[in-house]
Amino acid sequence: MESELEGMRKYFKSGKTKDASWRLSQLKGLLSFIKEKEKEIFKALKEDLGKHHVEAFRDEVGTVIKSINYALKNLEKWMSSEKAPLPKIALLSSAELVPEPLGLVLIISSWNFPLGLSLEPLIGAIAAGNTAVLKPSELAPATSSLLANTLINYLDNNAIKIIQGGSSVGEQLLHHKWDKIFFTGSARVGRIVMSAAAKHLTPVVLELGGKCPAVIDSLSSSWDKQVAVNRVIVSKFGNCAGQACIAIDYILVEKRFASTLVELMKVAIKNVLGDNPRESNTIARIINKQQFLRLKNLLSNLNVQKSVVYGGSMDEENLFIEPIILVDPPIQSEIMTEEIFGPLLPIITLDKIEDSIEFINSRPKPLAIYAFTKSEPFKKRMIAETSSGSLVFNDAVLQYAADSLPFGGVGESGIGKYHGKFSFDVFTHYKGVLRRSFLTDFWYRFPPWNDHKLLL
Ligand code: NAD
Repeated sequence: MESELEGMRKYFKSGKTKDASWRLSQLKGLLSFIKEKEKEIFKALKEDLGKHHVEAFRDEVGTVIKSINYALKNLEKWMSSEKAPLPKIALLSSAELVPEPLGLVLIISSWNFPLGLSLEPLIGAIAAGNTAVLKPSELAPATSSLLANTLINYLDNNAIKIIQGGSSVGEQLLHHKWDKIFFTGSARVGRIVMSAAAKHLTPVVLELGGKCPAVIDSLSSSWDKQVAVNRVIVSKFGNCAGQACIAIDYILVEKRFASTLVELMKVAIKNVLGDNPRESNTIARIINKQQFLRLKNLLSNLNVQKSVVYGGSMDEENLFIEPIILVDPPIQSEIMTEEIFGPLLPIITLDKIEDSIEFINSRPKPLAIYAFTKSEPFKKRMIAETSSGSLVFNDAVLQYAADSLPFGGVGESGIGKYHGKFSFDVFTHYKGVLRRSFLTDFWYRFPPWNDHKLLL
């Protein structure tokens, strides 16, 4: 592998990948792959995750197309140097920020959005003019092999390589020296990535997970309640069956509103899945047996079982779990301490909705917080008093599609951000360039020192 990587480093040094024309051609290659192989992509995502092709388009194919088009449209602007102001002491000088690619970067992605989470960072790496190795997840083998065997034909293989494999391949890759590592996955592996990177002083981006809360205020109008519930249901169960880093993990609600909320949720789920959820092809399947058993195990605690108020049928053979709603499972149980990453949705009841702030703040900083409320003072408090990768009012997951917003975590939910221009920036070094003329100088800048020079 080292000799291949050495070849890629040499290719980078040749300057080829720095050309705008190279970057544009590779981005167009990505676009052609998606457009020409759309059916194969849908098939692979169905095979790996049972994703309906409409969901696959909304969350992966469509968002990647949008991101490529955004990069194509803005690349020239992003590549341009930006003038920078200078202090008086630098009279008759000028300064600029010159964006330059980092070199050879490694992208390791996860299985839940195996196309999107592989290609979104790759778009940034290419736009910024880097060479890149992508290692998609072995747990989504159909998508992984489509990328490794087909996408690669649309790209410059001297500069971009796609390597399939699991943790041992990942570990081997981490032994090498990279100019940046962009990792999407669990905090456990994130720690392995970060310590391997430290040996070479390689900067990292860690796109991790955690428990994203949704706070639902006791909304008074029936329209608002219905809108909130529909959005909660779609962004939890209709989002890779809850196997998404930004899916709602649990709900915080006032006691007085809980039973109304549960009843509305039951109806909304039924509207989506029909009378026979097992037959529905709308909800994605659990990725594999191990994850299925992990989710099943979250319900093994008797007190957790007692808190189930809806759903719960499971089909191990078809890796299907019907949406499950729980009210007030024990706070110390695993379902409330670990990231759920599946179609289980606990509701925690509080005396006042304002108590949600303390509840959230007493836990690790989440990747996203969702708050459904019409109260402006409460919104202000949420913004000022909580910390999370992103904060969305009256919807969930939508932030993923916004090119103008940075996507990434804070604290235990991750390090670094991407999407839109942030994807270009994350693979770019902004070099400060200062140009000075020989014309004049200030005598007080130079020794020998005396107090006059200090006063000036
Ligand atoms: P994971 O950490 O198990 O695996 C992620 C990737 O790392 C895979 O490609 C895997 O092969 C590789 N890997 C595993 N062990 C490795 C090792 N020892 N050395 C190097 N590479 C190794 O995570 P996962 O199960 O694929 O994904 C689930 C987690 O990812 C959840 O916690 C979820 O919240 C998080 N996630 C975060 C985002 C985000 O954008 N923030 C997106 C999706 C998933």
